[in-house]
Amino acid sequence: MKNKTILVVDDTIANLDILVELLDQYDVIDATNGKDALEIVEDEHIDLILLDIMMPEMDGYEICQRLKSEENTKDIPIIFITAKTDENSIERAYDIGGADYVTKPFQPKELLARVKKELQIQELMNNLKLLASTDPLTKLYNRRYFANVSQHILELSKRQKNNLSIIIIDIDKFKNINDTYGHQAGDSVIVALANKLLHSHRKSDLACRYGGEEFVILLPNTQRNEALQVAEKLRKEIADISVDFQNKQHICFTVSIGVSEVVVANEPNIEKALKRADDALYEAKNSGRNKVCSI
Ligand code: GH3
Ligand code: MG
Ligand code: MG
Repeated sequence: MKNKTILVVDDTIANLDILVELLDQYDVIDATNGKDALEIVEDEHIDLILLDIMMPEMDGYEICQRLKSEENTKDIPIIFITAKTDENSIERAYDIGGADYVTKPFQPKELLARVKKELQIQELMNNLKLLASTDPLTKLYNRRYFANVSQHILELSKRQKNNLSIIIIDIDKFKNINDTYGHQAGDSVIVALANKLLHSHRKSDLACRYGGEEFVILLPNTQRNEALQVAEKLRKEIADISVDFQNKQHICFTVSIGVSEVVVANEPNIEKALKRADDALYEAKNSGRNKVCSI
């Protein structure tokens, strides 16, 4: 398993040295002020933060509040390590989202145990999040995750004034595949298609399994014509896939695809564009399948 990375933040170098030595089983990054700490969190993957409270310029509370207000840093657990022992300071630390609170001078073994416990909780939370957001058969994101994240992507696109596009993919006559080869073979076809989607889209694109044999890709910063090209390329590549089921059958299949563009200046959410992509998909189905249509 990959080593966990802990960020320790304290304005006193001697304290940092003690922590770095104590935590030698982990990858440790240190920072002596809030500004550096926030930059590190932006650039690196951090699993846990040990945070001093009393520091000049930006104190630990403010650092914590800033991290908790950002979507991509709000779930990093923070253990406060501080000389402040009064009840109000402790209460405030928990109120603003601190996971734990340790007073200086700390007992080394106790601190290590608390760090270990926080990392275990974090690991469990990550596994739960993954289970709740992905589809077990294909490992693609599920519809629930898509609904949450697509709204964030749209808001970001609105700020940047970049339109985005939606691609909906549906396997043609999939019922026939199940009826001819069996449900398990049908599952293998779905997995093969999902793997193609996992490996062919850009990092910024969001692909998900939207329903049984229906998939959606959200393409940020992409206009309709570009999305049509992506869709057409996918359609061709999918038609070339041959699924070897139990080393006996070689199953080929096609997909129909609907494409739409989200005009960020006019649309508060992606619902209407999803509906347009779905209507385009029906057009592709009704005009012979194995086609890309757009509205
Ligand atoms: P069309 O070209 O119009 O899309 O026809 P189709 O047969 O693909 O569409 P239809 O909606 O009639 O049937 C889809 C089938 O997909 C029905 C359902 O049993 C099957 N299906 C849905 N989810 C799964 C799955 O996870 N595994 C398998 N093997 N089949 C599934
Ligand atoms: Mg200090
Ligand atoms: Mg279908």
